[in-house]
Amino acid sequence: MECIGWEEIYGQEKAVSFLVETLARVEVPHALMFTGPRGVGKCSTAVLFAAALFCPAGRPDACPSCHKVARGVHPDLHLVEAEGSQILISQIRDLEKDLSIKPKESTRKVVIVDEAGTMNQEAANAFLKTLEEPPPETYIILVVESREALLPTVASRCHEVRFSALGKADIEKFLVEREGMQQAEAEKIARLSGGIFGRAMMWARNPELAMHWTRGVELAASMRRSSLLYLLEKLEEERQLLEDVTASSGEEDLEIYIKAMDKRAGEQLRKRWEKREKRETLKLRHQAALDLFDGMSSFYRDIMLLNLAEEQKGRASGGVTLMNREWMEELEREALHLGSEESMRRLEALQKARKALEANVDIGLLLDSLVLELKGLTG
Ligand SMILES: [Zn+2]
Repeated sequence: MECIGWEEIYGQEKAVSFLVETLARVEVPHALMFTGPRGVGKCSTAVLFAAALFCPAGRPDACPSCHKVARGVHPDLHLVEAEGSQILISQIRDLEKDLSIKPKESTRKVVIVDEAGTMNQEAANAFLKTLEEPPPETYIILVVESREALLPTVASRCHEVRFSALGKADIEKFLVEREGMQQAEAEKIARLSGGIFGRAMMWARNPELAMHWTRGVELAASMRRSSLLYLLEKLEEERQLLEDVTASSGEEDLEIYIKAMDKRAGEQLRKRWEKREKRETLKLRHQAALDLFDGMSSFYRDIMLLNLAEEQKGRASGGVTLMNREWMEELEREALHLGSEESMRRLEALQKARKALEANVDIGLLLDSLVLELKGLTG
């Protein structure tokens, strides 16, 4: 990460200024709950806040401590993420153990529980104990879409910090002003990201990741006219591409830190770093697969909109807001063949596949059965 600071967060002035003030007044609540829609910067803010809590300067900056936090390898930062689709009780037990030991580099400890709503009942009950009697100088941040996703007993012990939804215009503005992107490109990314800021940022910074969405659109556009054999070959290609997705490493940074440490601490850091990298890679792969599915879905959604506009001709019809404007020819061609009902069925099949992916069904199996289902539906 090149720069780290509050300016990384966009469109969340209220949440950020609350956090900056609590830091300045040294009145940081011991348990916080960041709530708001997916991909608006809750987790990034939690990481910056953790950096600020550790930083000698009291704010996220580019010092070695903040760098380690940004990389997810600060020894006093504990990040709890779902393993598979749930946060398990064993993870909470491990956390308890970690928290019972004194901080290593800072005087404080910070726990970030990402997607805290995925804690299963057992895990949530165990976690409640940690919340009720937190070890001294320990700060806990739960990241969750809404407080309803948590046990009421857990939610009531946390101070809620709300994050707002961002619109397409906000994202577009950010990409032009902060990322220095051309207007047309920024518009396209903002449109396709569906208001998910995190996704727009990821695509803007790693254009190769946007490819999976485009491949999804291509697949949907060619589904009807292609042979099953061709489609299965395409999917094999896609599976390979997904396997090639890896999180970038920043190996040079790691070596610099290790050089400055004694041997044992250095080895520990290397281990954490590698574990972190593995997790990041899995996450990226998962996101790329979701992008593929969502790209396909967006194509069928556009067809439904086109059909709807066609049916309503004569009535006062405004312009249709299509996601895949660049694919007008294919959309119009396929809309002639697929009615609204058929498109709807395909969208439902994709929704089902998406859910299965969230539940960690093997992507290869999922893609094959999805294509068979979609092909079968063409009749
Ligand atoms: Zn710092």
